[in-house]
Amino acid sequence: KNHFKSNLFTLTKKHKTSLKITALCGILGTLFSLNAFADGKLTVYCSVQNTTCEKVTQTFSKKYNVETQFVRNSTGTILGKIKAEHNNPQADVWYGGTLEPHLQAADQGLLASYRSPLQKEIMPRFNQLMQQRGDFISIIYLMELSIGINTEKLAKLGSTEPQCFNDLLDPVFKDQVQYADPRVSGTGYSFLTTLVQLWGEEKAFDYFKKLHGNVSQYAKSGLATANLSTGEVAVDVSFMHSYVREKDKGAPVKGILPCEGIGYTLGAASIIKGARNLDNAKLFIDYVLSKEAQEIPWREADSYQLPTNIYAQPSPKASDPTKLKLIDIDFIRFGSNEESKRLLEKWFEATKADN
Ligand code: PLP
Repeated sequence: KNHFKSNLFTLTKKHKTSLKITALCGILGTLFSLNAFADGKLTVYCSVQNTTCEKVTQTFSKKYNVETQFVRNSTGTILGKIKAEHNNPQADVWYGGTLEPHLQAADQGLLASYRSPLQKEIMPRFNQLMQQRGDFISIIYLMELSIGINTEKLAKLGSTEPQCFNDLLDPVFKDQVQYADPRVSGTGYSFLTTLVQLWGEEKAFDYFKKLHGNVSQYAKSGLATANLSTGEVAVDVSFMHSYVREKDKGAPVKGILPCEGIGYTLGAASIIKGARNLDNAKLFIDYVLSKEAQEIPWREADSYQLPTNIYAQPSPKASDPTKLKLIDIDFIRFGSNEESKRLLEKWFEATKADN
């Protein structure tokens, strides 16, 4: 509980006038939708970069006069929290993080159903997926999986730049590789799904077993790319936009699209079942699907994930989605709770990551 409180970012901008309006609306509320006056509170579980969580919740809060607070954590960790709290939900809405754990939450009956009218602005390539799963989740951005390198560290190691996932098995990278633990991180899970999709299970888990010999640490989040910038590790596997950001800040970091194929995942947003502030949660889902909200990460938070709203402009620093040859990822399969449990057990069996 203390942990929860200490993580809260609270916006307490409440006006007396709005309180009066609320009181008035309370009487009318049974007859009319209160969205136009949306007031009250909203608690957001947030699985994007901290600054993006801040900017998006602040803007939403100001725009709709909703007291909004957020708690940030990696995608798998938030899934665990929502599950643990299912009898007494502590948050209303889950913003960002990778799609698969949101789908696993839906699969376990942990989400509330809401199909936002703004879903019609999602890129048409995801129409089928939204038809199948859009009752519980909305897609809000896209990220491609890449290899990140620290060029200075590689020079010190006397190594050439790895171009392929298989290159990471080279003994020159002993204790030099970092990727995120797929049990807690959506990025780590996306690495797993990419290889299973590309190679099939046997080859993929054999690869993870071999790669374990070179791994120095399993990060808690794909956003732990600062370890690459400082040269604590020479190689990392995460999403391209994180490497663009590190490079932009002046780090000797470069992102490489792996030769075997470009895996990817989508960012998602969903409402938690039992949300106490359901109307505001719906309003927030509409908001994060909008062009305006999807440009906030790159305009205000130096975060270059690709928007999926057809009207939203991507950052000039982001990859051109029409030029990316992404492999097909079976999100329905990897979003299944049973299947993810099975795959994560196999990953753990292959890596014995806790030892
Ligand atoms: N959302 C965004 C925008 C990200 O950049 C990342 C990771 O880089 C994630 C979600 C996934 O985060 P995690 O690996 O902490 O689940």
